[in-house]
Amino acid sequence: MRVAIVGAGITGLSLAYELLKRDHTVTVFEGATHVGGELATVEVGGESVERFYHHLFTHDHDMVALASDLQVDDRVEWMEPEMGYYTNRRVYPFTSPIDLLRFDALSLSGRARLALGTMLLQRTRDFRVFEDRTAAEVLPQYVGQEAFEVVFASLLRAKFADHWESISMAWMWARLMARARTRTRDKRRERLGYFRGSFRVIPDALAASVVSHGADLRLRTRVEAITLGDSDSPVLWADGSAFEADAVVATVGLPIIRRLIPRAHHGFATSLATTAYVGACVVLLHIREQLSRFYWTSIGDRDLPFAGLIEHTNFVDCERYGGARLLYISNYLPAGHEFFQLSDDRLVERFINPIARVFPRFERQHIVEAWVSRDPVAQPVIAAGYQRRKPSYSSPIRGFYICNTSQIYPEDRGTNHNVRIARECADQLEADASSLIIGCQSA
Ligand SMILES: Cc1cc2nc3c(=O)[nH]c(=O)nc-3n(C[C@H](O)[C@H](O)[C@H](O)COP(=O)(O)OP(=O)(O)OC[C@H]3O[C@@H](n4cnc5c(N)ncnc54)[C@H](O)[C@@H]3O)c2cc1C
Repeated sequence: MRVAIVGAGITGLSLAYELLKRDHTVTVFEGATHVGGELATVEVGGESVERFYHHLFTHDHDMVALASDLQVDDRVEWMEPEMGYYTNRRVYPFTSPIDLLRFDALSLSGRARLALGTMLLQRTRDFRVFEDRTAAEVLPQYVGQEAFEVVFASLLRAKFADHWESISMAWMWARLMARARTRTRDKRRERLGYFRGSFRVIPDALAASVVSHGADLRLRTRVEAITLGDSDSPVLWADGSAFEADAVVATVGLPIIRRLIPRAHHGFATSLATTAYVGACVVLLHIREQLSRFYWTSIGDRDLPFAGLIEHTNFVDCERYGGARLLYISNYLPAGHEFFQLSDDRLVERFINPIARVFPRFERQHIVEAWVSRDPVAQPVIAAGYQRRKPSYSSPIRGFYICNTSQIYPEDRGTNHNVRIARECADQLEADASSLIIGCQSA
């Protein structure tokens, strides 16, 4: 079967890898000059580092297995970084249960409710009881209103911006479970993984493998439209030329898919629009000085213009980057937010004083270089009842398939699940192959 894949991020490349294992013919269309999508990197001190911060959880078995398959598992390293939480003009250590006991931004009874409620939630085995309820509705019942407002509401806002009140409790539960499962045995720290050479090790190895197994990987080739051929099979348009395949799989976000699919399928396009997205706007700073001991500092105060400060070189040794210190400034925002329009310089300027409020050691003169990355289609909004809206791999358009992050549920989206859905989608294509190929031959 001839399969065309739109997008050479980790999903598109994992899918190509799986389809080649099943002896299909694969062409991958990628609009950018490089593979990897959200795993794109910059070079600092001769080493690659992601434009968007990344780490692995200990239970990210699909990623680790893929790394092993690609013979790059020797690059996986596990660290136990410290976490912080900024609220009331102070950074609190937020790594261990003892930190929680000392977290005096909450009253003593607030801390007790938080600990007890989180424990109870983590004992719930079946997320389906939460699927139709929002985290904003359920969480206060478990952890109390005070802890909900001080801790969880800001975490939800940080990830989903204006959509935070609609987020499914099933998503929140999965996230709490993931964080609990990645803790060390004594529960004192989280154990997080990283690839020596950055996460791009995986898309690079995948691209090399699929090309060596016969895939046609076309970089700088943006897909402009998908139309229907004579036999109603999908025809993909790129660089003004048509490309016919038995099946087309789009791994790009739903808003992009809606623009690509045939107008005749207006109803399908409308159904995809029921999933909203927020964008990611992330600045990576190369700075001269270490700012704190924390890898990840979540920002609880709403008057700051970012949701997290992530000091990557408190996770990965700065010697790897020739001694450079690396700080990410993280924001998830609606695509219409002014941060998606401001020039890079003006955006960085906006952050200088606020960073110094969190880490008084920080000064403008510490900045050596800055990289601004924006992805307006970064995070599907997983609202209550999402299980009914989640798109399936197959679609009402014969031969047209979707395999993207909107199908990751209830887990938080991440590379491990991209690898998993790519395998599931390949299985589905394999199961459908005979009907797709016969249809094409009868054209
Ligand atoms: C800020 C941030 C932090 C993250 N942190 C983590 C983390 O810690 N751990 C983790 O596991 N995951 C993390 N993720 C998630 C992870 O990066 C994504 O789940 C994963 O990279 C998505 O891969 P993808 O292939 O589905 O999509 P993408 O990477 O978006 O790839 C889609 C590709 O399609 C291409 N494309 C778009 N339109 C077209 C077109 N018309 N024609 C051809 N090509 C097109 C794009 O150029 C891109 O290369 C993070 C993401 C972000 C944004």
